[in-house]
Amino acid sequence: MSTLVTGIAELVTNDPTLETGPLGVLSDAALVVERGHVVWTGSAAGAPDADTRTDLGGRAVVPGFVDSHAHLVFAGDRAAEFEARMSGARYDGGGIGTTVAATRAASDDELRGRLHGLVAEMRAQGTTTVEVKSGYGLTVEDEARCLRLAAEVTPETTFLGAHVVPAEYASRRDEYVALVCGPMLAAGAPHARWVDVFCEPASTHAFDADQARAVLEAGRDAGLGLRVHANQLSAGPGVQLAVELGAASADHCTHLSAADVDALAAGTTVATLLPGVEFSTRSPYPDARRLLDAGVTVALATDCNPGSSFTSSMAFCIALAVREMHLTPAEALWAATAGGAAALERPDVGRLAPGARADLAVLDAPSYRHLAYRPGVPLASALELPA
Ligand SMILES: [Zn+2]
Repeated sequence: MSTLVTGIAELVTNDPTLETGPLGVLSDAALVVERGHVVWTGSAAGAPDADTRTDLGGRAVVPGFVDSHAHLVFAGDRAAEFEARMSGARYDGGGIGTTVAATRAASDDELRGRLHGLVAEMRAQGTTTVEVKSGYGLTVEDEARCLRLAAEVTPETTFLGAHVVPAEYASRRDEYVALVCGPMLAAGAPHARWVDVFCEPASTHAFDADQARAVLEAGRDAGLGLRVHANQLSAGPGVQLAVELGAASADHCTHLSAADVDALAAGTTVATLLPGVEFSTRSPYPDARRLLDAGVTVALATDCNPGSSFTSSMAFCIALAVREMHLTPAEALWAATAGGAAALERPDVGRLAPGARADLAVLDAPSYRHLAYRPGVPLASALELPA
């Protein structure tokens, strides 16, 4: 069955062949969807017939947001830690241990309830693709369990056994890395598409360059794609390691040297910026303009997690990117859609052109500019179409 969607004041396609700028914007547009995919886009005046019709009454349609970095399998609450931080406490990743303890103690159904609830919360705000990491289990059984649950909600599952060194391994860090690269990876890999590591020598909880390399190479050998938590707290080795190993994405990129920017510009690794973290830890924002001016592909994601960024709103991240990181509204929307798709190596999402998945986000507004112009207002939602 085909559906004709009309009444689109502004359609953002991200189709570069349209020659209407990088967003491929069409005004007074229409779109035809068939079997879950876009089959036609164009001017409403020239729209073909279809089996059914949906009229959006003059609203804007954008590709559903692609949130390429989220930690949604967890239990517990860290609102008190946030409150302390807003009173001056520093963030160093140590609070992750609190979530690990709560997650290990939770039943499958408790974790599942929170996970499915957050995915629904995201969808209600226009996110149609989300990556979900493990990383709060940190035992062989708990990491496999978290990935199994994540796979219920998305194909974009990421093994993050190397999130932090759990307390019981604090004096045996190399032993923990061997566990991650061996039995934990073996148990998690069947449920994972990606492997990730928190590479941050400046944190006593995270992993240095050699340990991160070991984890990424073991993951690659197990058939997983690579992602890296890189250069969040300091200008460390994470970004250049990510580029050297051909990682799909280096995430955070808050503290970059000139050599880091050059490496990203010369390689294929996407720089994924997570401004919800800088907002929620009151830290300086990444220099996004420097990356864009160097020609680096930039993605925006929420990093939704209970410690450093408990927002599920891509629209909020777009507003932060525009206000705090000096992206144009168009650059920010592209990064939150096509950029996220690039970071997940998913050519079928993040755009609305023939052949793409029919993942539409509709805005209660006439233009995508309202995403940044009306911060905090829930304008975006995923459009549910007849099957
Ligand atoms: Zn993260």
